[in-house]
Amino acid sequence: MVWTLDTAIAEISGIGEQKAKAFSRLEIHTVGDLLRHFPRGYEDRTRWYGIADAPFGEAVCVTAMVAGPVRVSQIRKGLKLSKVLVADSRGSMDVTFFNRPYIGQSLHVGEEYVFFGVVEGTGLRRSMTNPVVEPAGKARFTGCIMPIYHLTAGISNNLLAGLARNAAQWCAQAVEECLPAALREEYGLADVAFAMRNIHFPENWEALELARRRVLFEELLCFSCGLALLRERRRDAQGYALVAVEEEAFFAGLPFTLTDTQRHAVTELGRDLGDAHPMNRLLQGDVGSGKTVVAAYGLYRAAKNGFQSALMAPTEILAAQHFRTISALLSPMGIRVGLLTASMKAAEKRAVRAALVEGEVDVIVGTHALISWQVAFSRLGLVVADEQHRFGVEQRAALVGKGEEQRRPHVLVMSATPIPRTLSLILYRDLDVTVLDGMPPGRKPVKTYLVGEEMRARIYRFIHRLTGEGRQAYIVCPMIEEGEEATASLKSVTAYERELRTHLFPDRSVALLHGKMKPQVRQGVMEKFASGETQILVSTTVIEVGVDVPNAVLMVVENAERFGLSQLHQLRGRVGRGDDTSYCILMSDSRNSESLERLKVLVRTGDGFEIAEEDLRQRGPGDVFGSRQHGLPLVKAADLAGDVRLLKQAQGAAEQLIAARPGLEGAELTPLRARVDRMFVQAEGTLN
Ligand code: ADP
Ligand code: MG
Repeated sequence: MVWTLDTAIAEISGIGEQKAKAFSRLEIHTVGDLLRHFPRGYEDRTRWYGIADAPFGEAVCVTAMVAGPVRVSQIRKGLKLSKVLVADSRGSMDVTFFNRPYIGQSLHVGEEYVFFGVVEGTGLRRSMTNPVVEPAGKARFTGCIMPIYHLTAGISNNLLAGLARNAAQWCAQAVEECLPAALREEYGLADVAFAMRNIHFPENWEALELARRRVLFEELLCFSCGLALLRERRRDAQGYALVAVEEEAFFAGLPFTLTDTQRHAVTELGRDLGDAHPMNRLLQGDVGSGKTVVAAYGLYRAAKNGFQSALMAPTEILAAQHFRTISALLSPMGIRVGLLTASMKAAEKRAVRAALVEGEVDVIVGTHALISWQVAFSRLGLVVADEQHRFGVEQRAALVGKGEEQRRPHVLVMSATPIPRTLSLILYRDLDVTVLDGMPPGRKPVKTYLVGEEMRARIYRFIHRLTGEGRQAYIVCPMIEEGEEATASLKSVTAYERELRTHLFPDRSVALLHGKMKPQVRQGVMEKFASGETQILVSTTVIEVGVDVPNAVLMVVENAERFGLSQLHQLRGRVGRGDDTSYCILMSDSRNSESLERLKVLVRTGDGFEIAEEDLRQRGPGDVFGSRQHGLPLVKAADLAGDVRLLKQAQGAAEQLIAARPGLEGAELTPLRARVDRMFVQAEGTLN
């Protein structure tokens, strides 16, 4: 079969329906998508040694002959060991495989194979455990720079690498060049065919670096161009000047006094809102820093000017919580607050939508449901998006588009994810930024401990004691939410909760919360916890953002090493919301010193920015934000931390291009414009 860029993955021989479905989870539908699914890293499999010369502790390739039969033994239940002796002209080594009982069928005595793995043992007796093995002379994944891809259940790295390699060899030439030759020359960038081949199947390290540079530059350039176009359009846009009305009533109605930093944020917000030029501001502050009240000021001010506003939250739980907070605050001030979420009954939704169009609701709080085409406003003056990184730039734009023709509402974006500067430069280039630093008074840092399995009994006693004193606790478990392992994962979380409920804490009320529950059920569980009826909440990361239960003073995180640092920091922000000392206990049985060191960062500091920087350094931006949750396409091209210079260059180039050719007009720039449009595709008409 001849592959083209448009060939569907499902048509490739050897790819069944199941596999095609798995690929679609990675948003790979065609060969062209495959080419754009860049590796997240590489493994050096280029170093060859003879057995006798191979350095200890390093991963190397060795060509060796199988010198004897494979012997299989059962170590304990569920653990099978296969051992074989291999040799080259100057030495021999033992090769061991765990749980690969059929490996013997592919290793034949007297034949040569390539083994890639870490050489262990002593000078006298060398060994390798679980190496990659391929027949000598037919090696595909050894002796090369091996790309490592983001995967999903049912797709192995070898499968993806093999397909991507074929795609690169056969179709790289067909990929349209979107960077003009002059630009490539000016910035020393490889052409697209070279880049596509070498990013997936690098000839050598230099070629890989050139390819990576080109790909990253292209993504950064397109993103910068898109933002520049957005900015351009906003510059001409007309908004509404929302003046200060009855301000004292708002401040007098607050249950607390604003901190200096909140006051400053309110002033900045007020200045922006008072200008007819539409605001586009990011309010950034760590979890618990008190962003909601700042937003509430904006909502109040819009309403007092006779405008509607929308507050958009990423989850139903959060939307419901915001609705409670905001209506408790603003209803007494005569402002009508409504709620709109996908899980509401159809009739309720209809009623709310009608009220919105009629102008009978001043502030609408909701989820993505607010973006739906069915939602229309009578006079939308302000959009607030909470926890921004969950929304793409496009989604924000879609909501903004619901204002009047030719007029744009003000936009306030709130983010609790401390964004390292490197990234905020890109993510929020189209926004002005207000930072809420510090915490409202009375906040104590959450006491954080990293402990092993041997502490479990003590921790259960601690939970027992705290809940006995009327306190509440979270127990967070990692759970795979998608793919084939999801069922098993759900089972184990459910079983653990049952164990806690029936055996360990029979005299406490224990409940379970996970992402596979229906929204209404989830909300019910959350409400019972918020009201104090539930004492111990066993949960997956669905409680991650924004949930506020001040009486919960303890969080235990199981298998903490499976979470990212930023994610753990967010989770930890769920406790320490009241006046008393709170605790976060990270349980980990990991022996891996690297992951333990990683977790110690959390023990050491509560500063979200420091944690985010560390996370970014260790894992790259894709993982920090959870890939694809931020509307930022370029994370595919891997680690940005070291690429600030390239970023600056790309931004410079974007500005030059747009200055010379507003709107990226002209035949030469058509492919680039098309790439930019595709990147911002969900925002219908965003860039026009
Ligand atoms: P976040 O920035 O994470 O959204 P919230 O707005 O939910 O934080 O505020 C966290 C908690 O702090 C809330 O319970 C809120 O009522 C309280 N809070 C906010 N500002 C102040 C303040 N100035 N003084 C006392 N408590 C405050
Ligand atoms: Mg919040």
